[in-house]
Amino acid sequence: MTGIEINNKEEKKTEKSSVKKKISFQTPKGMRDLLPEEYVFWDKALSAASDIADFYDFGRIETPVLEHSALFSHGVGMGTDIVEKEMYILKTKGGDSLALRPESTAPVMRSFIEHGMSHLPQPVKLWYFGPHFRHENPQAGRYRQLYQVGFEIIGGEPDPIFDAEIIITAVRFVEKMKIKKILLEINSIGCRQCRNAYKKKLQDFYRKTTASASKRKNRLVCKDCERRLELNPLRLLDCKDTNCAELRESAPSILDSICSPCREHFKEVLEFLDIVKIPYALNPYLVRGLDYYNRTVFEIFTEGGGGALGGGGRYDYLAEMIGGKNTPAVGVALGIDRIVNFLKEKEINYEPKRKERVFIAHVGDAAKRKAFALIEELYKNGIKTSSALGKDSLQAQLKVADRLNCPIALILGQKEVYEETIIIRDMKTGTQENVPTGKVAEEIKRKLYGK
Ligand code: AMP
Repeated sequence: MTGIEINNKEEKKTEKSSVKKKISFQTPKGMRDLLPEEYVFWDKALSAASDIADFYDFGRIETPVLEHSALFSHGVGMGTDIVEKEMYILKTKGGDSLALRPESTAPVMRSFIEHGMSHLPQPVKLWYFGPHFRHENPQAGRYRQLYQVGFEIIGGEPDPIFDAEIIITAVRFVEKMKIKKILLEINSIGCRQCRNAYKKKLQDFYRKTTASASKRKNRLVCKDCERRLELNPLRLLDCKDTNCAELRESAPSILDSICSPCREHFKEVLEFLDIVKIPYALNPYLVRGLDYYNRTVFEIFTEGGGGALGGGGRYDYLAEMIGGKNTPAVGVALGIDRIVNFLKEKEINYEPKRKERVFIAHVGDAAKRKAFALIEELYKNGIKTSSALGKDSLQAQLKVADRLNCPIALILGQKEVYEETIIIRDMKTGTQENVPTGKVAEEIKRKLYGK
């Protein structure tokens, strides 16, 4: 198995050189910290996904971050970039070869088989949200630790209505993230029979054209495509190299080659999309980079949004490829990093929930103790607090309250401790009033929530 061995030489070299130099650590290449400002978007994505999943009746699943690497070589396919070049693989002390999951469709199907979910009412609808790992070349919108949300419909019949349902679920999720101009590209890559016949046609076309070109010492396709021609010819169609893209214009189209049951299936998927008025564009070059797909494949873009925000398709053979029985299935994965990047570029912001937060300020040691206890009292009343209890100066504390946009500050000084009262300060107007300590929770609820 190829892939990236964890603790590779490159990392060992940096370890050695960091001993001599002053030690300083940064996130590994292609990986990043998600800081609180960024996490507002992540929280929004998770809650949007959870709402959509609840509406369309998907149950949440969490599979381990590590899986046996063979799951991906069998499921995703040896000829794919993910398995061939991008997996982080580690050997355990027991000698197992494990991979950081590069995607979750194969793990979810593994779980479906392992837990006998074929005995549940079919199909089973599952969704996930979490980090995935691919050793790709980092660039805009391409990370080595990437977050995906995914929806899968597994089992039952290979009914085209489920393909449409998955697409609708994905579109509704993207809409809920406030992305408006959604572009859906769709294609069918047929079944085992018609796809194999098409692959041969494609290979014949490429072999003939590239052979006559090489006689003229002319290279028509890139090095990767020369390999793909033998290993995974469908991938010749979605190569981004300009020469390859030019040549494919004259290649035979897959939509002319699929068999009539596949054609009928595809037609019905499109009809279901028409019923719910989801617009789409046919793209006969769309094949997707993973081996497990058959029939419907699709990708979701937004205007001016760079790469795909998500993609998916039908994968009826995956269960058999990883040792299960024939199980029709269809799913989608959406890239949270890309969706968030797009939202930030467009300056679409989600309000952090600051409005309901009360700031606790103190003057003096006795008041500090009382403030510390007050926070717990407010916790029991469901009131969120912020504070800067390490600071002594009231002015410095109120500055923090201002920066945090807290609408109300509660101030405790020596006098208030003695009299068992608290000052409630309106941070906007600066007006203050004294209330008995026992009434403070009630008073804040009235001010913040009008209760
Ligand atoms: P895939 O699993 O390759 O079909 O990818 C599904 C979606 O995940 C893509 O449409 C992207 O939005 C996102 N994605 C894939 N690879 C990366 C990456 N390296 N960095 C960030 N997002 C990614």
